Amino acid sequence: MQKRVLFLLPASALLALASCHQNNKQGDEIPVFNKDSLGQHIQVLASDSFGGRKPFSAGEAKTVAYMQNSFTRLGLEPGNGNSYLQDVPMVLITPDADAVMKVQSPKGKFDLKKTDDFVLSTENTDSIISLNNDELVFAGYGVVAPEYNWNDYAGMDVKGKVVLVLVNDPGFGTADTAIFRGKTMTYYGRWTYKFEEAARQGAKACLIIHNTEAASYPFSVVQNSWGSSNLFLDRRGSGDKHCALQGWVSADAAKKLLAAAGKDSSLIVSANQHGFKAVSLGERLSLTVKVKSVYNISHNVIAKITGSKRPDEYLIYTAHWDHLGIGKPDEKGDSIYNGAIDNASGSAALLEIARAFKSLSTPPERTVIFLSVTAEEQGLLGSAWYAQHPIYPVSKTAANINMDGINALDSTHDVIVVGAGQNELEEYIAEAAKTQNRYIAPEAHPEAGSYYRSDHFNFAKVGIPALDCSSGIDVVGKGKDFGKQQKDDYTKNRYHRPSDQWDTTWTFNGGLRDMQLLFMVGKRIANESTWPQWKTGSEFKAIRDKSLAVVSK
Ligand SMILES: [Zn+2]
Repeated sequence: MQKRVLFLLPASALLALASCHQNNKQGDEIPVFNKDSLGQHIQVLASDSFGGRKPFSAGEAKTVAYMQNSFTRLGLEPGNGNSYLQDVPMVLITPDADAVMKVQSPKGKFDLKKTDDFVLSTENTDSIISLNNDELVFAGYGVVAPEYNWNDYAGMDVKGKVVLVLVNDPGFGTADTAIFRGKTMTYYGRWTYKFEEAARQGAKACLIIHNTEAASYPFSVVQNSWGSSNLFLDRRGSGDKHCALQGWVSADAAKKLLAAAGKDSSLIVSANQHGFKAVSLGERLSLTVKVKSVYNISHNVIAKITGSKRPDEYLIYTAHWDHLGIGKPDEKGDSIYNGAIDNASGSAALLEIARAFKSLSTPPERTVIFLSVTAEEQGLLGSAWYAQHPIYPVSKTAANINMDGINALDSTHDVIVVGAGQNELEEYIAEAAKTQNRYIAPEAHPEAGSYYRSDHFNFAKVGIPALDCSSGIDVVGKGKDFGKQQKDDYTKNRYHRPSDQWDTTWTFNGGLRDMQLLFMVGKRIANESTWPQWKTGSEFKAIRDKSLAVVSK
């Protein structure tokens, strides 16, 4: 408790920072963000005493208190009634599957081996889950996409059955830009979608066939992150549907399954064609999984500035506060995963942008929400909970701007918009970037589906236009090769390692400018009477149209 006070800025410093504004050519008031203030937050949040900010650890209590006290000091109102907290109930599920899955096929019996051939996970908290000679159906990409007139489940009832599906989407499979979005992954390509759709179809289990190129990571990544303990939202009483079991099979195991059913790779190729029909493989699967479940509650921190003209319309800034906690030591013996960039930096930026909005001479017209979410690292859980249990109506929420990692290094000429082509926030950011003499650059790997991998995505999923962008690689005065090297160095030497810790050489020249950009976009959204829209062809447009239609009725 004493320590926290040490790190907080005195009131006089707050006043000094509050007056740090400049006006741009259009006469707009733009704040000048301050490295010392940003850096102070990061040093506290990423200090060893916060223990890597893992949900449910002592680090959670410190982090949540720090965020809440900072919001209070800045003069923000509590965002959840009288409270700055939103409870996020979760459950840690540990499945223990049989060592083999028994397969009964038209060509005889065989076993698939756990870990080598398949991995399984469950969101089901029953103590025993089993497959008992359950029928296996190949359902292509497992996609139902009305905007592409595509339904892999058409004419096939998979209730109570096990579905086997391909990763990615038919656009990737054909590399034809006329099919889905070609190589750019749509949400239909993500594994999370496959499980959600299989559940909607009433399937008992869903197995995804792994493919390194289509998944954008090798089977070893799947083996490492599946089959052990996983955190999920506590969905007791929600009526949410999910498959009893969900998992992956290796490419070799899939080949075995197809061959034993008398099929070959032509079946997989046929899934790329419009009008593909799911087929039963005439195989039956058996296995038992013992399940342990432990319930616990983590917290989102939420604060707001009430709008002056349209208080019942909202803009939400988000950044996740959590990181990986204490884990496997690195070569230096350091076991604290401080997460200075990921995401103490985004949390610090959230506080500094809140400060900037609070100190505007004219308050924002719409209500601006600052939401610091938990358990991003465990599967975007805090943001998912908020999106499913919104404190403010989804249909009245104009947009979400997410921050996950702020550029601690040099400024860049380019800004990367993740998920280009999704919504009009892309134009908002392009216009704001122009005022900084910067340009928008495309993502390097659109097939990886990065748009579906951070917290903003949970807002997109319920129809709220969401923005995810980052510094580019075109470093001012040093060029693209240098910038790419810097990014690669972070990925290789710091990302999700104990070495992601405070570095005295950080200038934040890039990050401070990026924050200014995100502030400009947010200020425009907060003060305009119109709403940013999803673009035609976006898989989230229909969801938004539906939620707005319900409100206007
Ligand atoms: Zn991370």
